[in-house]
Amino acid sequence: MEKLKKYSSSMIIFFIFETTAVSLWLILDNIFYLFNFTYIGGFLALGLFLYTKKYQHARLVVQFGVGLYMLVYLGIICNENMQIEGFWYYLFLGVFEAATIHYAVAKLFGPFLFGRGWCGYACWTAMILDLLPYKQPQGSRKKLGYIRYITFSVSLLFVGALFLLHVPNLNKIMFWSFIIGNTLYYAVGISLAVMLKDNRAFCKYICPITVFLKPASYFAYMRITVDEKKCISCGKCKKVCMMDVDVTNNSRKRENGTECVLCMKCIDECPVKALKL
Ligand code: SF4
Ligand code: SF4
Ligand code: SF4
Repeated sequence: MEKLKKYSSSMIIFFIFETTAVSLWLILDNIFYLFNFTYIGGFLALGLFLYTKKYQHARLVVQFGVGLYMLVYLGIICNENMQIEGFWYYLFLGVFEAATIHYAVAKLFGPFLFGRGWCGYACWTAMILDLLPYKQPQGSRKKLGYIRYITFSVSLLFVGALFLLHVPNLNKIMFWSFIIGNTLYYAVGISLAVMLKDNRAFCKYICPITVFLKPASYFAYMRITVDEKKCISCGKCKKVCMMDVDVTNNSRKRENGTECVLCMKCIDECPVKALKL
């Protein structure tokens, strides 16, 4: 019974994704959704299982398992633009397909349940950025967060203009914008990480998707909380946090609270086990 309880979060995640997989398969009469959500849920459950087993690269396994699937299989092989431009594109077309479903589950409604879990376990941009050496940001946070609204607006205007101007071959343009957009994300993300000595600088200042993610994750059900009676104010949790979150405050308004990517590093580092998910 105790063993079953230990692996319950892994089983719950798999159950949620499997229910989504079967429901979408039956509702949309497309077996792709059964495969897609079983695959993603399977990797997330595997990651949680490995984390419970204290395997130190558990998160990396999920990041590469899910990230490469989305980037290479869905994006390049299946020709589905999974970036924000793809979301606008399919939204304007009125098509409820992989990119729109992906955004609805991972970035619009899912964050009410699992916050920025997408950013910790599945994003193919962060999958590479997290390999860089600046895992703990060096230096204070910059006031550059406004850039995300510019990149968000540019992506919307770009796709909106393609539709308004009746540009032909939109499918081809979307494919190449996926390739060029990702190349740019990696180039800017890696350069910024090196310049600011912070692996996640791109996530903090540039990424347009955070415009969706941050408001919903404010209300996230799954979040790190502290037992204030146990906390000895050693500061280790803040030091290891790649997103500068102050988890020693349980308020939803805590410093950088909507930035937590649920990596669990703070939980592992706390010497008195005062933190939990
Ligand atoms: S903030 Fe953007 S780039 Fe960073 S992990 Fe989240 S979705 Fe990926
Ligand atoms: S270290 Fe803790 S607070 Fe920081 S992102 Fe990871 S889980 Fe969230
Ligand atoms: S690491 Fe634990 S004890 Fe130290 S400040 Fe954070 S919550 Fe408190």
